[in-house]
Amino acid sequence: MSLEEIKSRIARAEAAAGRPVGSVTLIAVSKKQPGDRVTAVLDQGHRTFGENRVQEAAAKWPAYREHYAGIDLHLVGPLQTNKVRQAFGLVQAIHSLDRPKLAKTIARIAQEEGHCPELFVQINTGEEAQKAGVMPDQADDFIADCRALDLPVRGLMCLPPVDEEPTLHFALLAKIADRNGLAGLSMGMSGDFERAIAQGATHIRVGSAIFGQRNDG
Ligand SMILES: *Cc1c(COP(=O)(O)O)cnc(C)c1O
Repeated sequence: MSLEEIKSRIARAEAAAGRPVGSVTLIAVSKKQPGDRVTAVLDQGHRTFGENRVQEAAAKWPAYREHYAGIDLHLVGPLQTNKVRQAFGLVQAIHSLDRPKLAKTIARIAQEEGHCPELFVQINTGEEAQKAGVMPDQADDFIADCRALDLPVRGLMCLPPVDEEPTLHFALLAKIADRNGLAGLSMGMSGDFERAIAQGATHIRVGSAIFGQRNDG
C-alpha cells in the first residue's frame, strides 16, 4: 500500500470519528526494512519514523539525517537502562516507559543532558505475562511517580494481544489517559489503526502497511 493511500485512510478515519483532519501523527515504523523502502518514504516527504531497537536506530538514522532535514524519530520498542543515553541522542520520543528503574534512569540522564524526549507510558492492557508494560491497576501510581520525577509524560501506549479485538484495549488506554489528564494515545498498527483512531489515537505506529512485509524471520 502506498503512503498516500495510508494517509487518505487516516483522513477518512479522522473524519468518521468527528476529529480534525491532521490530528493523528503517522509514525512510519521502519524496523527491519530495506533501505530503499525507507528512502522512498523519505523522498515522498514523510519525516516521522519509528524504530523498536536503539541499536538499529543508531545504525540507520544518523546517515539518513545527513541527507534529510527534520526527521522525527520515535523509539517504539523496549529500552534497556544502559541504552538510555544513546537513545537521548537519537530519538525525539520514547513510547516504552514501562518500569520504575527506567523512569529513574531517564530522569537522571535528562538532568545531565538538559533535555528529554517526549515519553509515553506503555500499559499492558491485556495483562499478558510475557509482554512489557505497566499493569492497568498500577498505571495511575506509576504515572504519578513519573510526574514526581518531572518527566515529560505526553501520553500512553499499548500493544493489544494479537488474538483479541483491539478496540476494548484502545478504549481502556483512552480511559486511563483521560483520568490522568494525558492527551497522547499511541495505539494502532497496520491492521487496526482505523479502530485506534475511532478510540482517540493521537499517534499510530504503522509498519508493514506502508513498507511491505519485513524480514523478521
Ligand atoms: C513493529 C511495530 C509496529 C508496526 O507494526 P505493523 O504491524 O508492521 O504495522 C508498531 N508498534 C510496535 C511497538 C512495533 O514493534
